[in-house]
Amino acid sequence: MSGAIDLHTHSSVSDGTETPAQLVRAAVSEGIGTIALTDHDSTAGWREAATAASGTGLTVVPGMELSTRYSWKSVHLLAYLFDPMNAALVAETARIRSARLTRAESIVGRLSVDYDLTWDDVLAQTTAGATVGRPHIADALVAKGHVPNRSAAFESILHPRTGYFEPHYAPDPLQGVRLVRAAGGVPVLAHPATRGRDSVIPEDKLAELVEAGLFGLEIEHRENTSSGKARLYELATKFGLIVTGSSDYHGQGKPNRLAENTTSGDVLESIIAEGTGSAPFTDGLPR
Ligand code: AMP
Ligand code: FE
Ligand code: FE
Ligand code: ZN
Repeated sequence: MSGAIDLHTHSSVSDGTETPAQLVRAAVSEGIGTIALTDHDSTAGWREAATAASGTGLTVVPGMELSTRYSWKSVHLLAYLFDPMNAALVAETARIRSARLTRAESIVGRLSVDYDLTWDDVLAQTTAGATVGRPHIADALVAKGHVPNRSAAFESILHPRTGYFEPHYAPDPLQGVRLVRAAGGVPVLAHPATRGRDSVIPEDKLAELVEAGLFGLEIEHRENTSSGKARLYELATKFGLIVTGSSDYHGQGKPNRLAENTTSGDVLESIIAEGTGSAPFTDGLPR
């Protein structure tokens, strides 16, 4: 394998703006070697991404970004190379997607009191079956002319301080790590320091996750603060965790560019050696 390795990307199967095939073509045209497709709480894009990668030389690592919650804080868990048919994981992700839908409708219900915005406006921004999130509400607010872009929506109308925000059901991170491991997957904590050093999950909780099989930390991510990264490197060394870097690409939905942060080939090989539930797609075929 050669070329840059980017282990965190989103497609329109969740809140990215490009279909899995378009995302694959973007990665190929930029000469990237490997991407992981990590849509929120869904594996529905794996097949399309694998098919699109066929004959291109791009490797696609099948993955997901699982929503979890720890003491009212949203914690994202990247999961690689798990069995997409694993019954417990399939059931839990279905539960999360359903809760996300109910929650988005509820947020839109309250927004519609103050803004010209309907649930149909949000559905118009969503691919059928996609994992729905605040980004789709943001896109509807943009389409209605209330804000210029997604980022502006998050900084204004969708900011938690405005009072429209509400959380959705998500399992505890410990349950998330166990589910991913039981499905043969490799769990890596996503962007664990976006709110700075003091927002990093407490050390005793991290120890619990490591004990359950947490494999790594995504440290090189644009939203981790520099003091947060320093803390995460200490924790990675202390607990023997691998370190990844990635873009968290969302197409036009975020400024993040493909492969703006990358993961080393050695780390990718260790993830592949650890994952037993599925295999990376090389030229469209499981390797
Ligand atoms: P939700 O999962 O529905 O709570 O929405 C969270 C998602 O919103 C994250 O996965 C990000 O992709 C996206 N997001 C969060 N903040 C921003 C922002 N400032 N600009 C664009 N997208 C954002
Ligand atoms: Fe997202
Ligand atoms: Fe995330
Ligand atoms: Zn993400």
